[in-house]
Order: sequence, then structure tokens, then C-alpha cells
Amino acid sequence: MTETILRPSPISASVDFSAEGVQHGFLRLPYSRDDSAWGSVMIPITVVRNGDGPTALLTGGNHGDEYEGPIALFDLARTLAAEEVTGRVIIVPAMNYPAFAAGTRVSPIDKGNMNRSFPGRPDGTVTQKIADYFQRELLPLAEIVLDFHSGGKTLDFLPFCAAHILPDKEQEARAFELVKAFGAPWSMKMLEIDAVGMYDTAAEEMGKVFITTELGGGGTATARSAGIAKRGVRNVLRAAGILKGAVETSKTEWLDMPDGDCFSFAEDGGLIEPLVDLGEKVRKGDVVAQIYPIARTGAEPLEIKAKMDGLLAARHFPGLVKQGDCVAVLAI
Ligand SMILES: [Zn+2]
Repeated sequence: MTETILRPSPISASVDFSAEGVQHGFLRLPYSRDDSAWGSVMIPITVVRNGDGPTALLTGGNHGDEYEGPIALFDLARTLAAEEVTGRVIIVPAMNYPAFAAGTRVSPIDKGNMNRSFPGRPDGTVTQKIADYFQRELLPLAEIVLDFHSGGKTLDFLPFCAAHILPDKEQEARAFELVKAFGAPWSMKMLEIDAVGMYDTAAEEMGKVFITTELGGGGTATARSAGIAKRGVRNVLRAAGILKGAVETSKTEWLDMPDGDCFSFAEDGGLIEPLVDLGEKVRKGDVVAQIYPIARTGAEPLEIKAKMDGLLAARHFPGLVKQGDCVAVLAI
């Protein structure tokens, strides 16, 4: 068997992960380009360490147009004091920083979708190089990993925290304990439609306790959704024994995505009329939305029917849909 020897990451950290106290710095990735010959991508990072204990790795901006995570993590990075911590907290508010700075889901540099780029490559595109640094440098430092998502510009979600069903039931149970501690209004046993290359999968395969969120969408945040994120991240750190104090408990409703019947995709594009709003219950066969062809009047709309009983957990956000778009996600 030949062994692939990977070169070192081109990314260098201006913070010392083993140092005590609070450090604000950057992950610097050299990126030579027309407007900056010896330029760099500078990814903000904060490390807070106080003695021995577990490490939590907290990330937002995996997709650049999802805002609750960055809001909660810029806030936490600014306010977390070393004395409050036992162990270490590594905060990267905007993982795919070029995408975050451009307000786009994927990187404007290479069109890289961070959450389809793992395990990454040290000699790949900018997005692959960032993924590789998380895969080989940051994930191995952590026991607990929280990666914030929301719907971005094209989806809108009920606010939930989530973990996946895993082969290792102890790892799965620890993740769902943190989901409960996060205390979002909904908590989800999440099914992925496209798990290859995901950060989630990379962390889980390394045995990490991994949780994620979907906290809204539409390419913005609300006071409510930002508040859920800010309270949730501190609750997770408390439940992990990293942050002093008790978890602020709150009521959560558990949801499950049992199989692929959760998802509905548009077979034609057009103007979408929602017939059910987020959180509303539906029965199998109910029409959750209809899509009008826009090229002519007088044509019948395409009906999007629920393939199962459940409630609407996510929906397409913009008023026009394209063929192939995910238009509705149900959960039970
Ligand atoms: Zn996302």
C-alpha cells in the first residue's frame, strides 16, 4: 500500500493554541492575486484558555450568507473571559471568510462550498486549503464541535439545533445532550441529503461530539434568531463543563427527519405560492405550495404535495424557484 504524504498546511495561526488567557488573531492563508501579489486571506480567530479541560471548537460562516452563528460568535469572542472558562474555547466566527465577506454561500474566489470540501487539500483551492486546516489542525484539538448554520438567502428554517444518528451510540447520545442544552425552540434528529465532504461528517468520523443548527434564513437574522444563537452557544459550553454556571433550560420540541420523503424539489421553475407556513402541521397529500409557470397566463400551477404527515421545518425563501430547487422540508 502506498502512503500519501500530505504537505503541511499553508495556513499559519497568529494565536498560540497552548497559551493561557484570551487571544484574538488570525488564520493567515497566502493568496497571491491580481490586486495583492503577496496577499493573504485573514480569517479571524479567538482562543480562550484557562488550565486543563475539554476544548470546544465553535464555527459560523461555513456558508457565508448565514448570520446567526457569526453574530453569536463575534459576541462571544468579545465577551468571554478566561476566568469563566475551564479548558479551551476556539472561536472562528466566519470559517469560509471570503464567502462571509462577500455575503455569499460559497467562496467568490473559487466557488468552493466549504461544507462539501472536506477533508480538503493543502495544495488545493482557497476553500480546500481552509477545509484541510480544520481537518488536520483544528478538529484534532477539540472534543466538542458546534457549527452554526441557517438557511442562507435561499432557504428559511424553523430555529433548531441538531445532531445526526450515528453508528457509535455513546457519541450520538453525547451530541443529543448538547442539542438539548442548546435550548433552541426545536431540536432535530437530522438527515443529510448530501453528506459527502461535509464538516459534520469529518468531525463525526474523528469521534468528536458534533452539533449543528439551522436558525432561520433568508440571508439575514432576526432579534429572536440571534438571541437563540447567543444563548445556545453559552448553554452548550456550560453543559460541556467549559463555562461556569448552570444551563438556562427552556422548552424544546423534538423533531425527526426519518427518510428522503422529508424533502420536496421543484420539477419546474416559476412563481411559488406558499400554502403552509413554517411550523404548521400537514397531512400526507396536502398541497404545501404551488408553482405557477410565469411565461403565460392560464396555465395550471404545479402542486407540491406532502409525502408524509409532519410539520413544515424549512421552505424555499425567494419568491421565484428554479427547476431542482428544494422547496419544502417536512419533519415529524
Ligand atoms: Zn449552511
